[in-house]
Amino acid sequence: MTSVTPLPDTAETRQALIDACLWMNARHLNQGTSGNISARTAAGILITPSGVPYEDLTPDLMVTLPLDGLPDGEGLKPSSEWPFHQGLHQARPDMPVVLHAHPPYCSILAVQRRAIPACHYMIAAFGGNSVPLADYALFGSPDLCANMAEIMSDRHACLMANHGATVLGESIAKACWLLEELETLARTYLFSSIGGAPHILSDAEIAEVLVAFQSYGPREAEATDG
Ligand SMILES: [Zn+2]
Repeated sequence: MTSVTPLPDTAETRQALIDACLWMNARHLNQGTSGNISARTAAGILITPSGVPYEDLTPDLMVTLPLDGLPDGEGLKPSSEWPFHQGLHQARPDMPVVLHAHPPYCSILAVQRRAIPACHYMIAAFGGNSVPLADYALFGSPDLCANMAEIMSDRHACLMANHGATVLGESIAKACWLLEELETLARTYLFSSIGGAPHILSDAEIAEVLVAFQSYGPREAEATDG
């Protein structure tokens, strides 16, 4: 697995993480302070604090975590979901950004305990022919971390049973883009079941999309032939 250069721990990076939180709430991809975001840095992990409204966040309020082990206890408490952020940064060094939210349509599917199959070719943006569903475990628990790390070994997103969704990105912008794409996919899958049954693309058809995305990337593919 290729490693990506960690993000620099600068005021700009910290502000970009805050901006991502404000953006996902403005786009109705999250509510309140349910969501959280973290970035891998050279020294460890930068993560949003627990329970602070995004509007009140400033760069100095972002919390640092070690890549392994407990928070150092200085400053604000990290997001209560820090265990799975830490676990995913350990499991996926190629993905320096972890973004978690409770997007409404993703959450509906997660409550129904449904993974997303290949109902649309954009599923390939998440690394394969599905967006898997992580088994339920208490928020903030090591079990939830283990459930997610296992199914995200070859995917850039997962739904979380009776909870929400998490995406992995090579950058903050890519993670935000993926979160909105995931919510669109969840809505498409949910509504396509009304008055009919969604047609699911074959593994061969998705393999073809994955090859096309490798050539020019999903964002460029969308811009080109959407
Ligand atoms: Zn959550």
